[in-house]
Amino acid sequence: MQEKGCIFCELPEDRIIDKNAHALAFRDAHPVTEGHTLIIPKRHEAEYFDLTDEETLACKYLLERQKHSLMANDVNVTGFNIGMNCGIDAGQTVFHCHIHLIPRRRGDVENPKGGVRHLMPGKGYY
Ligand code: 5GP
Ligand code: ZN
Repeated sequence: MQEKGCIFCELPEDRIIDKNAHALAFRDAHPVTEGHTLIIPKRHEAEYFDLTDEETLACKYLLERQKHSLMANDVNVTGFNIGMNCGIDAGQTVFHCHIHLIPRRRGDVENPKGGVRHLMPGKGYY
């Protein structure tokens, strides 16, 4: 179920910060903000939409646990962006499905309004 050459299948054990039966969590190597975390299914699967219900739930549990842990370890964390790039045209670069959990802190950008809408240049505000 692992894919040879996939960086997320071959993640060193000491990079893993949390896991359960079907999913893993680890910090992003190029964090957008401090604490930027990736949640992945253990099984190699490029497409979020092809995860089993068990895998989806396992990822959700890790998202929740990491959310609590990030907030407990940094009182300045006041929000999160949760995101997935699904497919090359949506910006996916690593083809082992992963969920970005990006901690946000008040004032980390001048005007956060719109959040993920900013992925399309000029469309963030409405
Ligand atoms: P994507 O663009 O596919 O949604 O995101 C891939 C993510 O994987 C990026 O945020 C990138 O920083 C992260 N990444 C790429 N290579 C590695 C790596 O070797 N280790 C870790 N921990 N993260 C990586
Ligand atoms: Zn993989």
